[in-house]
Amino acid sequence: IEIVGAPIFNEKKMLKGAVLVFYDITELKKLEIMRKDFVANVSHELKTPITSIKGFAETLLDGAAKEQETREKFLAIIFEESKRLNLLIDDLLTLSKLEKDEFRLHVTEVNAAELLRDIIPMFKQRAENKQIQLSVNVEQGLSMKVDADRFKQVIINLLANAISYTPEHGEITVTMDETDQSIHVSVADTGIGIPQDALPRIFERFYRVDKTRSRNTGGTGLGLAIVKHIMEVHGGKITVDSELNKGTTFHVYFPKA
Ligand code: ADP
Repeated sequence: IEIVGAPIFNEKKMLKGAVLVFYDITELKKLEIMRKDFVANVSHELKTPITSIKGFAETLLDGAAKEQETREKFLAIIFEESKRLNLLIDDLLTLSKLEKDEFRLHVTEVNAAELLRDIIPMFKQRAENKQIQLSVNVEQGLSMKVDADRFKQVIINLLANAISYTPEHGEITVTMDETDQSIHVSVADTGIGIPQDALPRIFERFYRVDKTRSRNTGGTGLGLAIVKHIMEVHGGKITVDSELNKGTTFHVYFPKA
């Protein structure tokens, strides 16, 4: 708390009292700390791929480019790291758009099952590569009012995580049904799970349960932060159940009206 005070005098310039103003700055301070952390995190996340790109390019220029095998290996790394940077910047731009006050959803009446049908094929190959069984249980004929692209982004991010964090031969199930007030979609996996103490933090930007593993899977650490934001701007909600080494289920609820 910050206190600002001023004396009050009467007509004879005698001290009559004082005004004290108490400012509750905890919220402001918290925001300020969050902003600083965010800038530090972004810088760090950008720096990692850039350091790698710079190092490999430098080695190539110093003569390593003469050997074909080395050249191809290093160029492949440079290419991968550039893609990483691109993903990270796309995610940052998405987040900043969602946070703008003037952000508007393009809400239309959509057939929910059709939206899912557009998405699932994008993951068929990745699931097959890991011999993961991907099943879809969708109640037909559900319609809802959402921003179709944002809805797809939510499901895409949840599915991408489910595949990344599920070992070979696992199962992923997407279900969609309706409750009184909302359309409910769940994405359940039989993956590595999330420790209970980490559950409240996974929606924070750049929070990762296991830093190295997440980087290897190509994640930016922003996927769930984006999902949470999209659910908020829709007036919906997201919940998660998870058991370590058993699996994780995310539930999202989009209001019908
Ligand atoms: P990332 O790009 O690291 O996947 P996210 O914001 O999408 O970032 O997720 C944050 C963290 O939550 C991940 O690093 C991972 O530790 C954990 N997580 C998310 N989804 C799952 C899942 N389906 N199974 C296990 N852990 C998960």
